[in-house]
Amino acid sequence: MNIRGYANGKKMAALVGGGLLGLEAGYALTRLGLRVVVVEAAPWLLPRQVDEEGSALLQEKLIPLGFEFYTGTTVANMEARGERVCLRLGSQAVLEVDLAILSAGISPRLDLVTGTEILVNKGILVDDRMHTNLPDVYAAGDVAEWRGTIAGLWSASQAMGRVAGINAAGGDARYPGQVPSTTLKVAGVELCSQGDIRAPQAQVLIRRDSGYWAKLFLRENKVAGSIQIGRTTGSVAFKRLMDRGVDVSGFESQLLQDGFDFNQIPGYKE
Ligand SMILES: Cc1cc2nc3c(=O)[nH]c(=O)nc-3n(C[C@H](O)[C@H](O)[C@H](O)COP(=O)(O)OP(=O)(O)OC[C@H]3O[C@@H](n4cnc5c(N)ncnc54)[C@H](O)[C@@H]3O)c2cc1C
Repeated sequence: MNIRGYANGKKMAALVGGGLLGLEAGYALTRLGLRVVVVEAAPWLLPRQVDEEGSALLQEKLIPLGFEFYTGTTVANMEARGERVCLRLGSQAVLEVDLAILSAGISPRLDLVTGTEILVNKGILVDDRMHTNLPDVYAAGDVAEWRGTIAGLWSASQAMGRVAGINAAGGDARYPGQVPSTTLKVAGVELCSQGDIRAPQAQVLIRRDSGYWAKLFLRENKVAGSIQIGRTTGSVAFKRLMDRGVDVSGFESQLLQDGFDFNQIPGYKE
């Protein structure tokens, strides 16, 4: 369906799922003049990418553009009411809108292996070699469940595919996982989230300026994760620190400063 054509002249949309793709779609609708009510099951927006404080900041920037948010609640049911759509939320609130967009995550289609001996859970279960439980059968990408997760990202799918291909051809390769890294621009708001932002017992470095909000999560003196909102200037350096497991002891107070030369940190350059 041509969503743009259908949305033309409409006033209000519901967006079920406040994830990365959903917010992009919602933003496109606000630009067509619609108010967009986001219903998100998680307690805050983008829970895999930002913490509660970061999400509140993002919401603050999106509300003036025409977004409205219901977090921590799901859509219990949805029905057509004439030309409109009526959504009943788990919180008992009722929304009546002109159109609804569902962007509530991916789930692999497993019908290809249904009725076979291949073990599945959310996806096809694979080990570090992308090997399923059957000899000579490998899986990779969005259909594969590795260590309890479905990556759902192009770079991870590509890396898994490479490992599966090498092993299927008789080699020996292992998928090491990836430092998750997401950069997006919603409504002109730049956001970058990398690594583990829920690192237990992490030391958290924070910078809160009007146009730039950033957090670094350190564990055992190494950068485990980062979130930046407003601009994403540190993303290359932070990713490098994470990938290389560089010890940043003694540099904590400078890591979030503008113009800091990361080359000063031993192990960063090599
Ligand atoms: C709208 C959208 C935006 C995205 N944006 C990003 C992004 O910005 N960054 C990012 O990293 N990732 C993004 N992704 C995710 C990324 O596209 C996927 O992680 C990646 O494409 C997965 O690769 P894949 O090969 O596993 O699956 P796919 O790319 O889906 O390829 C699977 C192929 O298998 C075919 N197929 C399925 N069943 C059968 C069958 N029975 N027989 C033969 N062929 C079959 C399908 O037709 C398809 O061509 C996005 C995804 C979507 C939907």
